[in-house]
Amino acid sequence: MLDDFIHEPRIAYFSMEIALRNEIPTYSGGLGVLAGDTVRSAADLVLPLVAVSLVSRAGYFRQAIDAQGRQVEQAAVWEPRKWAKPLDAKIAVNIEGRAVWIGAWLYVLDGYLGGRQPVLLLDTDLDENQPEDREITHYLYGGDDVYRFKQEIVLGIGGVRLLQALGFRIRQYHMNEGHSALLGLELLRRYAYPPGDLRPGELPYDLPRVRALCNFTTHTPVEAGHDRFSYALAQRMLGTTVELATLKHLAGEDSLNMTRLALNLSEYVNGVAKRHAEISNTMFPGYRVHAVTNGVPPFTWTSEPFRKLYDHYLPSWCHEPEQLVRVDCCIPDDAIWDAHLQAKQTLIEQVRARTGVALQPEVPILGFARRMTAYKRPDLLFADLERLKAVARQHAFQIVLAGKAHPHDEGGKRLIEQLHAQARALEGVVPVVYLPDYDMDIAQALVAGVDLWLNTPLRPFEASGTSGMKAAFNGVPNLSVLDGWWVEGCIEGVTGWAIGNAVGADDGDARALYDKLEQVVLPLYYGYSGDPGGWIKVMKGAISKNASYFNSHRMMRRYATEAYIR
Ligand SMILES: *Cc1c(COP(=O)(O)O)cnc(C)c1O
Repeated sequence: MLDDFIHEPRIAYFSMEIALRNEIPTYSGGLGVLAGDTVRSAADLVLPLVAVSLVSRAGYFRQAIDAQGRQVEQAAVWEPRKWAKPLDAKIAVNIEGRAVWIGAWLYVLDGYLGGRQPVLLLDTDLDENQPEDREITHYLYGGDDVYRFKQEIVLGIGGVRLLQALGFRIRQYHMNEGHSALLGLELLRRYAYPPGDLRPGELPYDLPRVRALCNFTTHTPVEAGHDRFSYALAQRMLGTTVELATLKHLAGEDSLNMTRLALNLSEYVNGVAKRHAEISNTMFPGYRVHAVTNGVPPFTWTSEPFRKLYDHYLPSWCHEPEQLVRVDCCIPDDAIWDAHLQAKQTLIEQVRARTGVALQPEVPILGFARRMTAYKRPDLLFADLERLKAVARQHAFQIVLAGKAHPHDEGGKRLIEQLHAQARALEGVVPVVYLPDYDMDIAQALVAGVDLWLNTPLRPFEASGTSGMKAAFNGVPNLSVLDGWWVEGCIEGVTGWAIGNAVGADDGDARALYDKLEQVVLPLYYGYSGDPGGWIKVMKGAISKNASYFNSHRMMRRYATEAYIR
């Protein structure tokens, strides 16, 4: 069954997490969804890729919310056999001086245009391994830094070896975030100079050759997002895989910094939006960080009613989303509004089924869903409850929220609790629903069914953000702080609206948000602004100007021409 995939050289795309489908809990948020979206676009574009990730049998976690509004974490165990095929090949890596065997599952991702891509899910749960080692690939982002380092050995070093054992020929390696940077060490070993050929002071490896093979995408300006390990730990785990002097030369003097390692091993490096690339260039002086703004695949994130509409008016939109630039002129307003009302009804039914709350179809719904963590500021909308109520008394609206906090992120968990308390305080004036267990299914319903997509991160920490792009495919305008992709996507009053300005002080953001809602966005929605049809014009602006550009087909075509072919 691998035969379909090993006859031509492929791009090996490494990611710690990947969102393949809703039933497979091998992702925690944006990074994993982007990895899945990358492979989905590669399938639609028939770009030969092979993705490598961990099987994460125990998943990330399922989120429940208790009566006090607190997050409760439940195991999200899944059965690989149900969705993937076990492969025969096995290889071993050395961890803490013993052999740890690694096998893999083959998941075949089917694109919507007939393309298929192989995904290898690495698994150490094999009879050959000690009980402790069998669990290395169980928990996504679980455990301590020893556990994480073992996972990164399996992903990076194990992944490269397994690809070779299976007969894959790899043209280029792509590290989606630094977690897989140890793959470069394995490549260095593959291209080591014979001992006699060395000149004093020279690294014993053909570094330029490895750099020519590697690409690295960095994903966050948040310091905690960059893995660092002590050299004591690294040496204990890796043994003499690569000598300490080389490691320090490539990964930093004080600690093994996976981002630095990836930067030094990759000739092509990029950030995930223009603003993020600028920030990364100042964070990592001496490196050239390109900008490839993220995108989302058209079919996956477009609701059924809009798919039908685009199929009718712009039949090739799925392969060539650039076609959507014509939406302004060639799709009637009524058809856009009808499709939106259908998507909104679907969301309203899902909300009722999941929470028992009945939202009103004629009242606008504001959506906010993403990882619950401090820099995303999910609480900004609730910063002044009296002001929020005053806005709602003038122009009624409803709010739907969703999002998980990482189990170790105490601040994120407090935010969830606080949001529930604030929702209670708004009862009777603003209906607020929190949908538990945010996942791809909920995201699909939300980005299509709400009327306005809200994003309020603390600048400059939103590297890109992709949920707002998903909204654009469904004609849902964004109201967002100017950070990440929105710096590029926002045309004020045309594709959506900005909260504050690009460099403004953060403490003014809440007031700017209330002002914009009260004076601009809601009056336009209700048609009080003297511009009948103005709202649908913005919906069309979101599609024609943003969905046509912020899609992962464009992103993959750029990776192909600028990174993979060089
Ligand atoms: C798209 C998506 C994300 C990422 O959203 P951001 O706007 O980038 O924060 C996270 N989780 C799920 C389930 C998604 O579908």
